[in-house]
Amino acid sequence: MSTAKFDPSSAIQDFLVFGEFGDVNPSITDSSTYTFMSPERMEELFDHEIEGCFLYSRHWNPTNKYLSDALARMEDSEAAQAKASGMAAISSTIVQLCGSGDEVISSRTVYGGTYALFKNLLPRLGIKVNFADLSDTHAVRSLVNERTKAIYCESISNPLLDVADLPELALIAKENGLKLVVDNTFSPMILSPIRIGADVVVHSLTKFINGTSDCVAGAVCASSEFVHQLTDINAGASMLLGAVLDSTRAASILKNLHSLHLRMRQHSFNAMFLAERFRELGLRVFYPGLPDHPHHGLLTRLMNPGYGYGGMLALDVGSLDKANGLMTRMQQEKVGYLAVSLGYFKTLFSSPGHSTSSEIPAEEREHMGLSDGLVRFSIGLDNDIEHSFERIKRCLEDVRVI
Ligand code: PLP
Repeated sequence: MSTAKFDPSSAIQDFLVFGEFGDVNPSITDSSTYTFMSPERMEELFDHEIEGCFLYSRHWNPTNKYLSDALARMEDSEAAQAKASGMAAISSTIVQLCGSGDEVISSRTVYGGTYALFKNLLPRLGIKVNFADLSDTHAVRSLVNERTKAIYCESISNPLLDVADLPELALIAKENGLKLVVDNTFSPMILSPIRIGADVVVHSLTKFINGTSDCVAGAVCASSEFVHQLTDINAGASMLLGAVLDSTRAASILKNLHSLHLRMRQHSFNAMFLAERFRELGLRVFYPGLPDHPHHGLLTRLMNPGYGYGGMLALDVGSLDKANGLMTRMQQEKVGYLAVSLGYFKTLFSSPGHSTSSEIPAEEREHMGLSDGLVRFSIGLDNDIEHSFERIKRCLEDVRVI
């Protein structure tokens, strides 16, 4: 774990790329294929990557490369690769690391799509995923065997906002020759898992990093060696599974990335304000910024200063009926949208047990503490959060939560 201070936004600020005519934004690649001055040069590129030389846009294209390089700076990784979705980043990483007969140890509290991939699809490829409570390091150690290849977790988990003990998991991974893969979708800028010992960071760029809910995209940040493996023409999971990001989208995400630091601060400020107010009302709030959250101390110790505790919070309002009533009223009151996803400039809310985590069987959800009355909020960039709170409070009164 690196103890030196790191500022992800300063790392990105230095990233200047000119367009073809000195444009302040890099030119957008509008080609799927690239010419060569000689057949020999083309053959050489099939053998190994050549800096600044492109072959075919599913392999690499210049715009995706710019976005990938900026993301690598943000995560302080040697390299990165932009992908067509967060799920593409997760699936290609696991398929690259594991073959038939191999095993992964995964946190039980992961995004529903990740859970479904691990539980339903990977076993068909012969990859077994053992789910565990990763805060129980004894349990994690007992699951490691000679077939284990990776430990997988979310830095701040979806939807319960548990914080992974990354230094401890990195230690177990290192001692046993495993790769620690961390989904950092909930906490870009706030946490830098690679600096804390992770080997691979995956992101759904669809969320905070893009911030405008207008596209689906993802990224893998890792060592140059791992990114080369992913893009290997003959054996790379990125190259051969083919989930490439379109270059026009890569360009728009890169532009949005440059305001991420400001947005994360405002998301966090607003979420903290609401979490404190909800707590004053006596509600059951899950927010790692509250001092009595079980992982508040851990997150405070690991986080980069200046970006707050994140824009996600959850509220347990007691029953599905109340959760549904509250969400309907909040949409009518223009608090935000009843919608899945997160990281948008407006507030989004959904009931995870019946949407984004519905892939997880009911008994597993209960085991995780994911109740039917849980409402997950992705708090927006509202300028007057006091006013937003007053609206939410009226909705809570209307459905008799308070
Ligand atoms: N990881 C987390 C934590 C998510 O919340 C999601 C989607 O909600 C994903 C990964 C998947 O990302 P995408 O929808 O971009 O494939």
